[in-house]
Amino acid sequence: KVRVRFAPSPTGPLHIGGVRTALFNYLFAKKHGGDFVLRIEDTDQNRYVEGAEDYIVEALNWLNIPYDEGPGKEADAGPYRQSERKALYRKYADKLLASGNAYYAFDTAEELTEKRAEYEARKETFIYNWHNRKKLNNSLTLTEEETKQKIESGEAYVIRFKAPENEDLHLKDEIRGDINVNTKVLDDKVLFKSDGMPTYHLANIVDDHLMNITHVIRGEEWLPSLALHELLYKAFGWEAPKFAHLPLILKPTGKGKLSKRDGDKMGFPVFPLQWKDPKTGDIASGYREDGYLPQTVINMLVFLGWNEGDGTEKEIYTLDELTQAFSLSHVSKGGSKFDPEKTKWFQHHYLQEEDNVILAEQFLPVLREKNIDAALTYVEEVIETIKERATFVSDFWDLSSFYFVAPTEFDAKAAKKAWKDETSDIMTSVKNIITEVDNFEQENLQDKVKGWITNEGIGFGKVMQPLRLSLVGEMKGPDLFHIMASIGKEETLKRIDFAIA
Ligand code: GLU
Repeated sequence: KVRVRFAPSPTGPLHIGGVRTALFNYLFAKKHGGDFVLRIEDTDQNRYVEGAEDYIVEALNWLNIPYDEGPGKEADAGPYRQSERKALYRKYADKLLASGNAYYAFDTAEELTEKRAEYEARKETFIYNWHNRKKLNNSLTLTEEETKQKIESGEAYVIRFKAPENEDLHLKDEIRGDINVNTKVLDDKVLFKSDGMPTYHLANIVDDHLMNITHVIRGEEWLPSLALHELLYKAFGWEAPKFAHLPLILKPTGKGKLSKRDGDKMGFPVFPLQWKDPKTGDIASGYREDGYLPQTVINMLVFLGWNEGDGTEKEIYTLDELTQAFSLSHVSKGGSKFDPEKTKWFQHHYLQEEDNVILAEQFLPVLREKNIDAALTYVEEVIETIKERATFVSDFWDLSSFYFVAPTEFDAKAAKKAWKDETSDIMTSVKNIITEVDNFEQENLQDKVKGWITNEGIGFGKVMQPLRLSLVGEMKGPDLFHIMASIGKEETLKRIDFAIA
């Protein structure tokens, strides 16, 4: 059975790059009838940030890509926070020590800093590996007795992986294909730290194995760790899962990786939800609070690295459709540019699809704040007529204020163009026509007013433009007869009177 995991570290709000990783994992799991697991990788106590885990869970729920197993959804493979699995990892480090795949190292931080400086002075990079591991302070240079003594006397140590000296590895990535690496370039990564906690590498492999993960789908930044991870599986004698590394998300310019600062600079969020930093109190904007719909974010994110291919030009996908269409073989290797404008295009589309009742319920508080008490059905009808021009609920007021309140002033430029010497007389006549209309509905109004204009032989613009100015205050808005029918006869006449005066 397919089992995938999303394994974020709770070090802050989830960046949309992380959300994309979660989404691809979710889609892959659902496509294959598998499980989507959330594992919280919180072994690094120094980087732990209060509230980050809740944020991750809330973001996945808001986007409708909930996990099947994870914190709060315990199943056989739990617990799902690495801090709660702490007792487990040492045993696995010991196995590697026993099999000769790992060793104790006693180098102090100062010693290592010194080494680095020494190499740097020679314009070289210090790598803790086969090349120099014998010259360092570790159990490969000490006798077994000395090592034991050091440990017993309480000297701080780490456990390092012993990377093979010169071995050609033939790795495979589901997206990138074959990858060849020689172990010469690998360093002896720390697996277990002096604080008694495993490092990411050890905990990640042990957990993926114990949780029966079949496919590891994660960001490209983890590709350099692939060789080590494969070696760890081999050292344990375990079957490795399949790996797929997702392409980078690039800045809108295409130059470099998308960062939080790009969003600040260009005015788009890089987080799904708003985030308040618990230490500084700084607020970072989120798609949800900025008025985007979850469908928008999903549809926008899926194209950052995936497309159905085979010549399809389909751009709008529901989650169900994505689940059907998704496949790792159509994930690209190259980075994809983040496109804030395209995101707005998706948002415009999904706003049109959203139920008017739901939109009306979101718009009502805006109206109430302006002391407007409108019936839900009326608001729904207004939304139906103006929504085509809106991208966000926050656009509604500007597009529809005249359905709720009369204009108090008129756009000067438009007034100059639309209101001529003879206009007041024309408007007085129009008023009389409108007064006579009993069945005050859009079509009937249109027939009556347009019929009159034709009979009189006045140009349409000469009537309709000042009429629009009277009712709306400027030259915008939907069909005038719809506006009249909506606000009613009394209000229509009142507005024309006000304009004439
Ligand atoms: N905890 C790692 C992260 O924060 C997980 C990487 C992986 O998926 O292996 O991205």
